Amino acid sequence: MSMLSVVVPCYNEEENVAPFYEELMRHTSFLDERQIELEVLYIDDGSRDGTVKEVKKLRERDERIHLVSFSRNFGKEAAMYAGLENARGDYVVLMDVDLQDPPSLLPEMFSYMEQGYDSVATRRVSRKGEPPIRSFFARMFYRLMKRISRTEIMDGARDYRLMTRQMVDAILSMQEYNRFTKGIFGWVGFETKWLEYENVERARGETKWNFWRLFLYSLDGITAFSTAPLMLASVVGVLFCVLAFVMILFIIVRKLIFGDPVSGWPSLVCIILMTSGVQFFCTGILGQYLAKTYMEVKRRPVYLVKENF
Ligand code: UDP
Ligand code: MG
Repeated sequence: MSMLSVVVPCYNEEENVAPFYEELMRHTSFLDERQIELEVLYIDDGSRDGTVKEVKKLRERDERIHLVSFSRNFGKEAAMYAGLENARGDYVVLMDVDLQDPPSLLPEMFSYMEQGYDSVATRRVSRKGEPPIRSFFARMFYRLMKRISRTEIMDGARDYRLMTRQMVDAILSMQEYNRFTKGIFGWVGFETKWLEYENVERARGETKWNFWRLFLYSLDGITAFSTAPLMLASVVGVLFCVLAFVMILFIIVRKLIFGDPVSGWPSLVCIILMTSGVQFFCTGILGQYLAKTYMEVKRRPVYLVKENF
């Protein structure tokens, strides 16, 4: 008998744990017809509220519920990784606990798997209910990624995705510490069917991602899946050299024609400021990659488990 694992990362989501379970049960009757077992893995990402207690309450009712609880907050990327590592199913689906990934899509997603797809992914075609600046920057991020990365990263893609065991194992074989799942999905390839749906607002509680956290996350995405910024440093360097060369020629010619009156002090200061600014900028980019490399080299575990059943 085959099995579907539902992986649900939770961080301070006590009021969502039970409603998610109810909603999931309402839409998974199609599994019984196909004689497919179900397991639900709640990944507690170091919550400080009653999330773990809520999961334990559910477990008393239903043996198919499992929990992996972290020793502290490691972030959603780590939670998803832990979920994939602990899932035993032949199919695995990643879902948010706040019901923004509607379980009602599951039957349709599953039917595509039966048609032979390795993965069924979802993307939102609208961003209603989201602050406009956030949508704007999100769109910019995807546009930029498309240009500077060879890995396909879909605009509006959610982490809500159903995968075969083969694809899960491929993802787990990528042992990087700086995980950017949206990129990893694209990198491993496999045949993916995209489903589109209108944005659903969070059921209860509030989002764990403020603007700043999302901004840093997007930088993680860029450094993890593109080395184009490193290229930028060389390009800017060459441009400045060419510019300097033209200016030297200009000054030599001017001296030959007009002699050498001492002037140009303000412009000199501007040029020095500008070039040193560019140098710092480029060193900063180098530093970003060096920092990522440093963290990778340490080989720290992606997450630590406190409790597991
Ligand atoms: N989440 C997590 N660890 C974190 C932040 C979030 O496991 O550090 C979980 C959260 O509980 C939810 C999912 O990731 O199930 C998506 O988070 P959220 O709804 O806050 O993000 P949004 O939907 O606003 O992008
Ligand atoms: Mg959400």
